[in-house]
Amino acid sequence: MQFNFHCPTKIFFGLGAINTNKSALSKMGQKAIIVTGGSSSKVNKSLEDMMSALNSEGIDYKVFDQVEQNPSLSTVYAGAKIASEFGADFIIGIGGGSPLDAAKAVAVLATNDLSQQDLMAKKWVTQPLPIVAVPTTAGTGSEVTPYAVLTVDWAETKMSISGDELFPAIAFLDPRYTINLPWHITINTAIDALSHSIEGFISKRATVFSDLLALESISIIGQLLQTMNEDNVSLSEREELLYASMLAGIVIAQTGTNVIHSLGYPLTYYKKLPHGLANGVLLKAALIFMSKESPEKVESLLHAMDCTNIEEFGQLLTKVQPAGDLKLTIEEQQLFVQKTLATKNIANCPATPSEQDLYDILNNSNLV
Ligand code: NAP
Ligand code: FE
Repeated sequence: MQFNFHCPTKIFFGLGAINTNKSALSKMGQKAIIVTGGSSSKVNKSLEDMMSALNSEGIDYKVFDQVEQNPSLSTVYAGAKIASEFGADFIIGIGGGSPLDAAKAVAVLATNDLSQQDLMAKKWVTQPLPIVAVPTTAGTGSEVTPYAVLTVDWAETKMSISGDELFPAIAFLDPRYTINLPWHITINTAIDALSHSIEGFISKRATVFSDLLALESISIIGQLLQTMNEDNVSLSEREELLYASMLAGIVIAQTGTNVIHSLGYPLTYYKKLPHGLANGVLLKAALIFMSKESPEKVESLLHAMDCTNIEEFGQLLTKVQPAGDLKLTIEEQQLFVQKTLATKNIANCPATPSEQDLYDILNNSNLV
């Protein structure tokens, strides 16, 4: 047996995680920038909890609350300007994956004067500021990954930067912050997490250790998709989702994602599908593709989800995430396939998909 495993993030999980463990913040420095979205962190009290923890630890802070979904480069440059003018010692991301990823890019740009091209080419030389992450969706796992996904208009797609120094130093996970998530965001983000654990499980880079976490995450999300009630998701179900999403994040921190995320990015960039929905639309067809090379692994993940076959898996997904009527033109199909072939992550698949495989995935996803 041989594997590497790296998860340097100090994780505080549970109700009241910030308040109970706030002394950890003072080890990060004396000045912080909070990077967050426009409104949800104010409503779910995560921002308030963080501000009172910083106040009681005597840490000075400023709030940058301009992060949009699928954050743009201009947003992270604006956040970095505020961070360097303020002389921040560390960056706190609060929100869904968008603010958490934006916080990571702000942490890089606060200490490095980089052009957009050099940022995306990861040409920073100075250590980024340390990062604290507070997720308020249960999906991306960004609180435990070394990735930041950004919308790059000159590349006409979403691209990620990564590096060990982008792992948050601390993550506070409190399921109460996710309690008011509307059903469609709950489902889309849960499917994002499921997609992380499936892509990490069926990956060239999977290990015995990452598989352990991936299967646990798949099994938790699979059970919840069967049983959750749209009108009443309990706090303990929220807790399970947040835990499963964190596990899935730890998995992709080891393995990366692969074809589902690569093909999903153009669906988000050009067709505005939310990230988790873009993955969900492709999942069943991607499993059909993956089952050619890794039939046993597909079998065991279906078993973990209590599905007898891929068809049943597809029906479960359509039940929770009803298929839209999106159809791609021939030009769009060609463009999306070319964009996907240009990503490095498709090489993480046990067999790298060919152009024809990608057309088949689009076709089997009813996008054609
Ligand atoms: P998101 O884009 O961060 O947020 C989506 C929406 O949910 C926003 O309108 C946000 O409102 C709202 N929201 C967030 N928390 C809420 C809460 N507790 N209650 C009610 N509404 C809430 O969504 P996401 O799916 O978590 O993140 C997606 C992004 O993460 C994509 O850019 C994706 O590419 C990236 N991603 C990153 C990784 C990684 O490893 N770094 C992995 C997968 C995906 P506000 O704007 O008001 O906050
Ligand atoms: Fe994702």
